[in-house]
Amino acid sequence: MDDGGAGRFAPSPSGDLHLGNLRTALLAWLFARSTGRDFLMRVEDLDRVRPGAEERQLADLAAIGLDWDSDVVRQSERLPRYAAALDTLVAAGLTYECFCTRREIQQAATAPHGPDGHYPGTCRNLTAAQRQAKRDSGRPPAIRLRADVTDFTVDDLLHGRYTGLVDDVVLRRGDGVPAYNLAVVVDDAAQGVDQVVRGDDLLGSAPRQAYLASLLGLPAPVYAHVPLALNGAGARLAKRDGAVTLADQAALGLGPDAVRGVLAASLGMAGPGEVPSTDDLLDRFDPGSLPRTPWVFTPDEPA
Ligand SMILES: [Zn+2]
Repeated sequence: MDDGGAGRFAPSPSGDLHLGNLRTALLAWLFARSTGRDFLMRVEDLDRVRPGAEERQLADLAAIGLDWDSDVVRQSERLPRYAAALDTLVAAGLTYECFCTRREIQQAATAPHGPDGHYPGTCRNLTAAQRQAKRDSGRPPAIRLRADVTDFTVDDLLHGRYTGLVDDVVLRRGDGVPAYNLAVVVDDAAQGVDQVVRGDDLLGSAPRQAYLASLLGLPAPVYAHVPLALNGAGARLAKRDGAVTLADQAALGLGPDAVRGVLAASLGMAGPGEVPSTDDLLDRFDPGSLPRTPWVFTPDEPA
């Protein structure tokens, strides 16, 4: 029952995956497999790569029982694709050079009408002379999208129709590295990914990514932004929170199957201490009954 589509998990190899990451990966696998889709693995290694992290991440994902189709794709091996997409947008007049520093953007974005973090358009309408003067000052510009909408709507399996802000996102950073938003859009389309399951901290970037896809003539995927794992203080789970990786848990005597059980229990798909197989979980999976609130994980207490 292969419908031709695919889901994916796309970790950044910046360190070991923690239980929140593994839980999101498990959900992405369940969403894909339960709908007859392929499940693809993409390593988002354009930035913040720690040597050995990719190997450990993939080993951990396999250890909790996840499998994936096709070879692992690495963004660092796909730079020509991102350059081609950028060229398309440049040729269509949909871009401009931005010379702002991070600090300048932060200061400008605190203006009353600027939602936090959104680029206020400082460089959007520079004259040719102003642009040349900025270039002469020596700072290599970032390339931004010249968005002609301010919001866009996506479909999310958990959030319904979601409309969010679109701003002039960076497409290529000043250092020449393709921006996350561009690379994700290009890769999802090129890989046939039509279902994107990821943490709900990224819900706000889905509209701009779907909009970018539309400009490139690419289909937008259906999304499922799932609740994150938090620590006891209500902040996003992080390595510094204690025994949060598979290796940490193994040191405490909890093997990968048991960790899968903990993750399943956190999703309401297993009882405490139960160790369901991935096949069991596939049988039990019902997107409609997933928890809609974050999972609070306190590593100091027995799971
Ligand atoms: Zn700028």
